[in-house]
Amino acid sequence: MELTIQKTQNPKQKPQDETKLGFGQIFTDHMFVMDYDEGQGWHDARIVPYGPLDLTPACMCLHYSQEVFEGLKAYRGVDGKIKLFRPDENFKRMNNSCDRISMPKYDEEFALYALKELLKIDQDWVPHTEGASLYIRPFIIGTEDALGAHTSTSYKFIIIMSPSGAYYPGGLNPVKIYVETNYVRAVIGGTGAAKTGGNYAASMKAQDEAAAQGYNQVLWLDGVERKYIEEVGAMNVFFVIGDEIVTPKLRGSILPGITRKSTIELLRSKGYNVSERLLSVDEVLEANKNGSLKEMFGTGTAAVISPVGELKIGDTICTINNNEIGPISQMLYDTLTGIQWGKIEGPEGWSVNIDD
Ligand SMILES: *Cc1c(COP(=O)(O)O)cnc(C)c1O
Repeated sequence: MELTIQKTQNPKQKPQDETKLGFGQIFTDHMFVMDYDEGQGWHDARIVPYGPLDLTPACMCLHYSQEVFEGLKAYRGVDGKIKLFRPDENFKRMNNSCDRISMPKYDEEFALYALKELLKIDQDWVPHTEGASLYIRPFIIGTEDALGAHTSTSYKFIIIMSPSGAYYPGGLNPVKIYVETNYVRAVIGGTGAAKTGGNYAASMKAQDEAAAQGYNQVLWLDGVERKYIEEVGAMNVFFVIGDEIVTPKLRGSILPGITRKSTIELLRSKGYNVSERLLSVDEVLEANKNGSLKEMFGTGTAAVISPVGELKIGDTICTINNNEIGPISQMLYDTLTGIQWGKIEGPEGWSVNIDD
């Protein structure tokens, strides 16, 4: 497919102070857009100036939430080259999300090519400050102009990009997590394994209630027995119990994180004993009581590794590793960010230069 390029006549002022970027508030000069129509397939792939979309109030995604998205980052490497981290995994996962939400699949290789071209055009927007990066948000929405509750016959695939600040401006810091026992996020057979807006809509209320109590994020339990640990808001979770590193296994209700997968692969390559299995809250409480719970951390593109210092379960508050960063969390953070910024050579294909 051909990719047409229309450059902006009015480039925006780039942020002056990269320490004040925050997350996802400023957008680059250009975006990628591609349309889908039933009978025609994907067509009109284009890079155009960033700006509002032309949609009608009947646009289907606004009513029935046929939407999928991804999140990845571009890093300005220590060699000056702009790098992506395992971007093929993001485009593969978004196609899996499309399948679950009954949306049309796209050519993953073409999508990655289009992203690289978009990055070349907007490369000056990739931050120079250590730890800051360009957050990339590919997404697809159903755009049919009709209210019938069926799959949309037309879609838009869009990629927007936002220079974003270091997740931990003050250095890696442990977070406080609230174990949610009232609301559920996903059940097996539902859409928990798809990266789709509806999962987030279902989780906002719990997130707000946890925030009101001073907690950073919610830890979800399985939706049926409310017994097994699933994941945190936008992160997968790991527990170091004795000499075993445990993460909940993927049963269809958990988002299969790319940072999760990379963490498991890195740990195993270094000889750690990693289990993907069912892990109950009771087991975590018991491990905390008998001293075998050494570390807990979340994994996700935004924070990379997020050490957990406190867990609230009902009326019980567990302090983990004295509310300090554990050695495994620190090693993983240093290794993964080292690979992302090109300071450390990672496994084949993990770090991709946009002009290779
Ligand atoms: C995106 C996301 C994650 C983390 O996935 P990564 O690929 O590691 O960024 C975890 N849980 C949920 C619900 C997510 O949406």
